[in-house]
Amino acid sequence: MSRTRPLRRPRWRSLLLLALLLAPLLWPVHYLAERYYRDVLIEQNRQTLDLYVANLLGTLRRYEVLPQILGDLPGVRAALEAPQDPAVLDGANRLLARTRAQTGADVIYLMNPRGVTLAASNWDKPDSFISGNFAFRPYFREALAGRLGRFFGLGTTSGKRGYYFAYPVRKGERNIGALVVKVDLDHTETLWGNTPEQLLVTDTNGVVILTSRPDWRFHASRPLDRVEQAAIAANQPYPTLAPPTLNLDTDAWLTQSRVLEETGWTVNILAPRTLLDRPVRSAVAVSATALLVLLLLLSLLMQRRRHYLERIALDSRAKAELEQRVTERTHDLELLNSRLKQEVLEREQAQQELVRAQDELVQAGKLSALGTMSASISHELNQPLAAIRSYAENASTLLDHQRNDDVRANLGLIRELTERMASIIAHLRAFARRDRHAPERVALQPALDDALSLLAKRRRAMDVELIRDVPDATLWVQAGETRLRQVLGNLLANALDALADKAPPRRIWLSVQSQGDLLELLLRDNGPGFSAESLARAREPFFTTKTSAQGLGLGLAICETLMRALGGELVLDNHPQGGALITLRLRLASPGVNLQPPEDPSP
Ligand code: ADP
Repeated sequence: MSRTRPLRRPRWRSLLLLALLLAPLLWPVHYLAERYYRDVLIEQNRQTLDLYVANLLGTLRRYEVLPQILGDLPGVRAALEAPQDPAVLDGANRLLARTRAQTGADVIYLMNPRGVTLAASNWDKPDSFISGNFAFRPYFREALAGRLGRFFGLGTTSGKRGYYFAYPVRKGERNIGALVVKVDLDHTETLWGNTPEQLLVTDTNGVVILTSRPDWRFHASRPLDRVEQAAIAANQPYPTLAPPTLNLDTDAWLTQSRVLEETGWTVNILAPRTLLDRPVRSAVAVSATALLVLLLLLSLLMQRRRHYLERIALDSRAKAELEQRVTERTHDLELLNSRLKQEVLEREQAQQELVRAQDELVQAGKLSALGTMSASISHELNQPLAAIRSYAENASTLLDHQRNDDVRANLGLIRELTERMASIIAHLRAFARRDRHAPERVALQPALDDALSLLAKRRRAMDVELIRDVPDATLWVQAGETRLRQVLGNLLANALDALADKAPPRRIWLSVQSQGDLLELLLRDNGPGFSAESLARAREPFFTTKTSAQGLGLGLAICETLMRALGGELVLDNHPQGGALITLRLRLASPGVNLQPPEDPSP
């Protein structure tokens, strides 16, 4: 399983992507920060403006009523009434000088109806107003008209900016003069600190009269119309008759204004927009950093999540593969298992078939043998039957002649013949019986002893020597107890038969030897041995070299059949030193418990 990782993108491309991501996010931050700091600045400046305006108005209002109060004073009025009297004038001068000192006004002076100054607070100063004519000033005209005159202007003698309040001095209904209080405005300008914000006070003409920036002073903030230009020429409030235009870059300044109703002035506070730059830049920088950190965290989180998901996917893939492999393996094993079961079943069936086939074969062999035997059987049985018939006919003839002894003799012969027939039939039954017993574990020696004991009497009568070379330890063979006894009995009987006509010494040898998993029981006698013909045909049923009274010719045929059924073998031969040598080959069985029920001992 191979996974191809995507190639790492170049670093600059990631940075560019990050910048592209940040830009739209930072724009609103910039906008909001600018708005916030502008609001803060505006609020601060509004307070400064309020403070300045309050100060300015306070200064002006303090002096507003002073001309009226002073005009009512007898000393002042007397000067207007007796302008020639030096003592009165001196008194007025001193009064005005005293009042000026007390109130902090710049100059206080008294004008007669022609505009000539009769008395002044600065009467004793070099720049004294005494005798000066200020009839051209609009405040004088206003005062003579009976109203409070107000005026901003540059002092003609002092050159200082001042604000003038003029009020008529009345005698009855007549205005006999005007009392003027000049307030110094220069100092209100100096109040303005050395701040980045600038002060700009314009009068009704839009001309700058007070400012924190000396280069802006007496510049027109807007174009002047003809009427205004004429008024400026007539009143001469500024040091110049044609104030130059002030070219302010409005975008560079944040302006807040307040109009003073009383004077018609506009007080402006101008804050350079650059003031906002630094905090806004800082805010943007902080935000950018925060966003960057946030984005990095986010990308880190995403990366971790991706790794986590990849690992989960990998795990689940591995698990699925494992499960798949287990399923396949299980399936294979199940297939193998069912195949094995099938094979076992088939083997069992084959085994059963084999057993059945073997059984059938043995049975078929027997039947075919019986088929071939049937002629012999009928001959064998017909012979005694014919003899019995003739003996019986003879017996009835002999009875007619009262020859009872002869009849008895014939009956005896008949009995013998029937016994022989019974014997033939019994042998045939044993031969043809379907023996279903499978070989079982059988001890050899007891079967041998049984067979020997059955023939012991005859052997002793014949004086046959038994030479037995069989070990005492029990030898276990696969056989049937009854069948083994039957075989051994037949073979021993044949040996005794063979020794019957032999001159002594008569001997029978019994010995055993093992050949792998086979046990061979050797049975030898020192009789005449097998003739060539009997060696070839001895196993055929009803082959015999003996007289009909001695043998039926079924012994070896039955032995052969039984041995085959037991999985053993019967080998007929002659010993080199003469006599028959018969070898009985049996399969060895390991010692242990016999699981099979014992054979039916009946023949
Ligand atoms: P029966 O004993 O009734 O003749 P068997 O089938 O047992 O029938 O034997 C067949 C023949 O084999 C005998 O007639 C005999 O000629 C021969 N035979 C069997 N055993 C011996 C033996 N020990 N020595 C010589 N010949 C034998």
